[in-house]
Amino acid sequence: MKFALDLDGCLADFNTSAIALGNRLFGTSVGWDDPPQWDYFKLHWTEEQQDQLWNAMEEEFWLGLNPLISKHQWQDLDRLCFKHEVYFITSRTLGSVKRYAEAWLANQGITYPTVLVAKTKGLLAWGLELDFVWDDYPEFLRNVKYYRGWKTRCYLENHEYNKDLNGDWIRVSGFADLLQKEGLV
Ligand SMILES: [Mg+2]
Repeated sequence: MKFALDLDGCLADFNTSAIALGNRLFGTSVGWDDPPQWDYFKLHWTEEQQDQLWNAMEEEFWLGLNPLISKHQWQDLDRLCFKHEVYFITSRTLGSVKRYAEAWLANQGITYPTVLVAKTKGLLAWGLELDFVWDDYPEFLRNVKYYRGWKTRCYLENHEYNKDLNGDWIRVSGFADLLQKEGLV
């Protein structure tokens, strides 16, 4: 099989680190576990501060993100990467994101990670002929459905910011749930 897994919000805990960095930079005390909206930076920080925050995310930040899956699950995922074609697709758009993401995945135990960086995911799903994708951002899954229809199964990771949105996807709560739904356990 061929499939794509998202990083931030699925495998990597971007939000906790980003909020902590914002609080440190601006002396705020934003304390969400799971932000109420996708572009939550806008809720507490000015546009200038948001730019500052993005610019402050350097190598140390990206390599320091906490994983959202356990050590044991990383081992399972690495095994799956040898059996299947697995892509890690991220929409991070800053400088060296590809290399940082690959280094981060290698640190988690993925032997040969393939990271693709893209602003939308539908055309990639079409070109790669993916069997399924896992993402926390509904817009990406809509885009995948637009190009692939039933040919790619779309899994939406449950979060506070997507809980009220309906669409042509299957909701999952974490990696174990995803594997179970795909019969990969
Ligand atoms: Mg994401």
